[in-house]
Amino acid sequence: MKRVSRTLVHMPEVATHCPYCALQCGMTLRETDGKVEVGARDFPTNRGGLCQKGWTSAELLDHPDRLTSPLIDGRAASWDEAYSLIIEKIVDIQRTHGKDAVAVFGGGGLTNEKAYALGKFARVALGTKHIDYNGRFCMSSAAAAGIRSFGLDRGLPFPMADLAEADTLLLVGGNVAETMPPFARYLTEQRERGGTQIVIDPRATLTARAATLHLQPTPGTDLALALGLLHIVIAEGLVDQSYVDDRTTGWESVRASVAAYWPARVERITGVSSADLELTARALARGKSIILTARGAEQHSKGVDTVTAFINLALALGLPGRRGSGYGCLTGQGNGQGGREHGQKADQLPGYRSIEDPAARAHVAKVWGVEPETLPGKGISAYELLDSLGDTVKALLVFGSNPVISAPNAVHIEKKLKELELLVVCDFVPSETASLAHVVLPVAQWAEEDGTMTNLEGRILRRRALREPPPGIGTDLAVMAELGARLSQGKSGVRFDSAPHAVFEELRRATAGGVADYAGVTWERVDAEDGVFWPCPAADRAGTPRLFESSFATPDGRARMIAVEHRPVAEEVDAEFPLYLTTGRVLSQYQSGAQTRRILNGSIFVEMHPDLGFDDGTLVRVISRRGSMEAPVRLSEHIRRDTVFAPFHFPGMGRANSLTGDALDPISRMPEFKVCAVRVEPA
Ligand code: SF4
Repeated sequence: MKRVSRTLVHMPEVATHCPYCALQCGMTLRETDGKVEVGARDFPTNRGGLCQKGWTSAELLDHPDRLTSPLIDGRAASWDEAYSLIIEKIVDIQRTHGKDAVAVFGGGGLTNEKAYALGKFARVALGTKHIDYNGRFCMSSAAAAGIRSFGLDRGLPFPMADLAEADTLLLVGGNVAETMPPFARYLTEQRERGGTQIVIDPRATLTARAATLHLQPTPGTDLALALGLLHIVIAEGLVDQSYVDDRTTGWESVRASVAAYWPARVERITGVSSADLELTARALARGKSIILTARGAEQHSKGVDTVTAFINLALALGLPGRRGSGYGCLTGQGNGQGGREHGQKADQLPGYRSIEDPAARAHVAKVWGVEPETLPGKGISAYELLDSLGDTVKALLVFGSNPVISAPNAVHIEKKLKELELLVVCDFVPSETASLAHVVLPVAQWAEEDGTMTNLEGRILRRRALREPPPGIGTDLAVMAELGARLSQGKSGVRFDSAPHAVFEELRRATAGGVADYAGVTWERVDAEDGVFWPCPAADRAGTPRLFESSFATPDGRARMIAVEHRPVAEEVDAEFPLYLTTGRVLSQYQSGAQTRRILNGSIFVEMHPDLGFDDGTLVRVISRRGSMEAPVRLSEHIRRDTVFAPFHFPGMGRANSLTGDALDPISRMPEFKVCAVRVEPA
């Protein structure tokens, strides 16, 4: 077995970060008598707080479900046997069907080093264009909108501390009180300073109930709502015209495009009253304001245009680039930010470079020791890739993802996974996807290997190992290095490292000169400075906590305002399917739940309004055109009468993604997770 090439020093205590969400709360890990204890650590994102997921994260290290040896068709096998089988199958499939018949699927929880190594492994060792990752299901709409308007995508282009300085905070489609509770400390501070908070959400979530004003639109109408807010800003003379003139392009077409979104019309589309729309527009125009979008606004077939409309609103008010003001999006997955910067996305090379840019290809190819023309071109997006399994794609290697639970239209995707000639899954627990795999490779957990993560602020952090992985367990990097070496035999100059620090040093060279430039970031600096914000092009230069202060990352330095139009959801309700389903997360669970379901109590439910006529606790079947799920009813006055909500963390008959559809945003290819048409029956 290939193990990490650097022997870890066994540390009695380390300062590290939570393995879960993008807040990357600071924590300490201490091992006493073989038991690992978690402590909260003061760090800028969590200020000494952790949520229940963080407090209990170490319980998975010695969990009885932990995978301890490679599995071939469910039986224990040696590493060499597993590697040999994988190589034999890949070579055979590629000889018969071509290089692109083998694909790679990554994850937004992988460290920067792993995300980088995975992109290199796919393009150099496998020579395939088919690589994408579950971050496509998370951040892709906000990322695409940010690049389109600002020329750059960094979730928060300012440090979190700025949030508390805002006079008004508008949060669109996010429930931080449940998904990342320590974040709420900033919201509390902002309120205590006299700030106004406005939340847009079809549910009166914990976050919405704590806000000054809650707007509760019909699912799928956030875009019209944003256009209506800009209409009011213009009508009431609240535009920051000198900012618009000096720092943006496209204003005239945007101004003309919102003329048709007068308040009464937007009220009819969204269900939000004209009075509340006017209150919101006026609050945003008063003093410093920050607009934040999250998955509720973004996971739609018009997610990019929705985010663009909120960016237009922020630009019209002159917010981006001013301290305590701006637009940002809230990243969800632990390394959702870094994971989309280093090349595991179908169209990207490290440093947030485009794989279609000849200069970018030449730069990265040189670092990788190959000729630029040998690099494959752009692949297809996550859902399209999963949908092609068994057809054009015959083999799939999965790292850090569980698409059986997290992909939309999951009944169909599970069927496609079963059509593969080879499915390889690297994981540390038997996830629902691993249980379908021909080969499962057991890998280390976060406390057993070093690396870096980039949090929701664009701050690069150190993840530190407390101890070695248990005997018989490898690492994701070691798997890529071993498979890469075996597949690349005969390619001189090509090297796949398994040591995280060596991979990071190569990543620095590969990102140099790119948008997400890590060239000046060293592990030592990250340790000394509580993280370093990218871009950081040189070791003697500071990182960049605040972006856009004097110019945007576009060729002319101006933000682009882009006219967009509201359009209906992909699947409207009708007589047969009369309710909207929206999905999301709950406090105790993280993403597909493969980790947190093993530690924390949490059970499936369907939240609905009492007026729908079901009793609390009744088992119901929720049915869409694609599948069904069963769950007990949880009655709530906090949800619209036309909408039901289900968390997406659960498997089997509790799988909410059995219901969701495959409509994709035309630009980001984000699936429409947040709304589809369903009916509810007694089960
Ligand atoms: Fe912090 Fe997120 Fe971990 Fe909770 S899950 S402790 S909010 S990083």
